[in-house]
Formats: sequence, structure tokens, C-alpha cells
Amino acid sequence: MSDLNTQLVEKYRNNFLQEVKDNVEEGDWVKMCMQCGVCSGSCPMGPYWDHPPQEIFMMIRANKREEVLSSNSMWMCTSCYNCIARCPRELPITHIMHGLAHYAKRLGLAPKNQPTIKFSQLFWDNLMKKGRVNELKLGLSLYFMNGFAEGVKKAWKMKDIGLGMTLTRRLNPLEILGGHGVKDQTGFQNMIKKAQELEAARIESSVKK
Ligand code: SF4
Ligand code: SF4
Repeated sequence: MSDLNTQLVEKYRNNFLQEVKDNVEEGDWVKMCMQCGVCSGSCPMGPYWDHPPQEIFMMIRANKREEVLSSNSMWMCTSCYNCIARCPRELPITHIMHGLAHYAKRLGLAPKNQPTIKFSQLFWDNLMKKGRVNELKLGLSLYFMNGFAEGVKKAWKMKDIGLGMTLTRRLNPLEILGGHGVKDQTGFQNMIKKAQELEAARIESSVKK
């Protein structure tokens, strides 16, 4: 358990709802859920993850901290917004799910072998290099994320699609050399660094309050 996680467990003992309210994006809304189940019934990913949104919100109120933060649920959300469009209480469910995912990752509690987490990390690392996503490199790192042999197999299987995309200029093979990025690279890196410092300071101060 990370030091930060230990401190948070100590501070919010038996009050995970308050912890979510203080530290998770849009977490204040969880208390408004009336458990009608419309979001879970509307979620196209519902059958494929541990707990649909309604259950996650119920578990937060029931202090099931470990189960919520180590669940794969938040990592399966595709941001389709079905739940938000239908929630009678107008909860920003999608944002809460992503906020919980971010919080779990920060505390080192997110499940280790979840493919969608690996993809999120690859996407983030790719974006952080130049401030814009290099689609070719992202696609390749996705193919090879589980090892060289599997990567070659996947790349071979997808070769016709890749060729078609290249011929129709949907993919630029020259992006392998670096690709495009934002003009002010230093400014971009400084902005991200500052945002990360502010976020770390916000959680640290929440522990000390
Ligand atoms: S639709 Fe809204 S009120 Fe109903 S269970 Fe889902 S989050 Fe709660
Ligand atoms: S936005 Fe996420 S949680 Fe909501 S219905 Fe779509 S996949 Fe499910």
C-alpha cells in the first residue's frame, strides 16, 4: 500500500463517500443517486465488467473501498453517455467513473492486467511526447503491448487494412520518424508538469485537512 493510500485510509476510515466527495472528479454527486438502476440498464458494457455504475455508487456508500478502487468497472467505460442522458437525477456518471479510475490509478490500486488500463497508459505516453497523438506509433504499440511475437502476428493480420488506410491517406507511414506535435514543446511540457504538481498538492492537502 502506498504511503498516500495508507494516509487516506486512516483519514477517511468508514467514510468512503466523503473520500470520493473530496478527491474524485464530480464525486460530490454520488450521494444524489437514488439507485433506480436506469444507468446500469442503459450501459452497453454492463455485462462485461465487475459492477455497473449503480452498483459502484451503492458500494461507495457501503464503504467498500477496496472493491470499488480495484474493480475493472471504471476502466471499461467507453464514454458513450447513455447513462448521463437517462439518469433521472442528472448525475454526471461518465465523469465520476473516469474520476474513480484516475483516483484508483494514482493510489496504485487499479487492477494490474486490465487491457484498457494498458491502452490508456500507451495513449497517455504517446500524447505526452509531442502534445499530439502519433496514430501510427500508438497502433503499433497497441499491437506489441503483449510481446513481440503477438505484435508481429497482429500486424500481419491487419496489413491489408493498414495498406488501404495508407493508400487513402488515412495513415502516414512517415509518422514513424516522429510525426507532428504542438509548436511550443517546452511550454506544453511545463504546463503538464504544473498541472501534475497542482493535482499532487491538492490530494496531499486533502490528507492533511
Ligand atoms: S440512473 Fe442515476 S439515479 Fe439511477 S441508479 Fe444510475 S446514477 Fe443512480
Ligand atoms: S458512459 Fe460509460 S458508464 Fe455510462 S453507459 Fe456508457 S459505457 Fe456505461
